[in-house]
Amino acid sequence: MSIEIPKDHPRYQSLINREKIIDGMHSKVVAPAGLIAHGRGEAFDYLMGEKTLPCARRAIRQAAYAFLTAKHPVISVNGNVAALCPELLVKLSEISSAPLEINLFYREQGREEAIEKVLREHGAKNILGTAGRTTASIPELSSNRRHVDPDGILISDCVFVPLEDGDRTEALVRMGKTVITVDLNPLSRTARMASISITDNIIRALPLLIEDIKNNKNNPKALSEDYDNKEILSQAVRAIAEYLTDRAKNKDF
Ligand code: ATP
Ligand code: MG
Repeated sequence: MSIEIPKDHPRYQSLINREKIIDGMHSKVVAPAGLIAHGRGEAFDYLMGEKTLPCARRAIRQAAYAFLTAKHPVISVNGNVAALCPELLVKLSEISSAPLEINLFYREQGREEAIEKVLREHGAKNILGTAGRTTASIPELSSNRRHVDPDGILISDCVFVPLEDGDRTEALVRMGKTVITVDLNPLSRTARMASISITDNIIRALPLLIEDIKNNKNNPKALSEDYDNKEILSQAVRAIAEYLTDRAKNKDF
């Protein structure tokens, strides 16, 4: 890390995340636009008090159920996620037996390799979507993200796409896949298009998802109840509104 952040700094975790994203940009893992996407996420995190909302907890349980009952679950990895929490991605992949697939919007020379290196350094063995492997494509999608691995996203029935773009989420849902996202903005197209939307910071959501998968491996049904993603998103928007209203009422500044 390029700067020292004192542990007692009131915004310690947030500053650590920023440093990871900046370091990631220098090593080509993060695209310059990834810094802007991170800023948008931070803003929403601030507005929900930087904590996991009850509706996100519910969505995480549903996501664990989807992972455990899928035939071919796949974890899509982009630059921001690889920079923020590579160790958690590797753990999730191990516990769920879902391969990691690198999938990038900005495919500059050397980026796939940089992300692959980070994942391998954290113990990843089974990595799809590496240079030369993305020979299949998602129909009706014009961006770079349409290129996928024929052994991964293409044949998956359940795709985990944290911090994703709306167009691709929609295309994956249209292909009949269960799409799970983590997105701090409950109003984004991704959050609205996905089958299961976890309105939380990826660094808080992943440890909970890993725990749920680990604890329910032998009985995934224990995680399954009626699930309505639109209702979950509505709860997320209301939780943010209530948090802000309370702060305003109590003059909590
Ligand atoms: P959409 O295309 O879905 O409408 P967008 O164009 O607003 O989304 P993108 O840049 O495509 O946004 O994707 C980034 C998304 O990831 C944003 O919605 C942002 O809130 C979210 N995000 C950024 N950092 C995090 C994080 N650490 N944890 C969870 N979500 C995050
Ligand atoms: Mg977008």
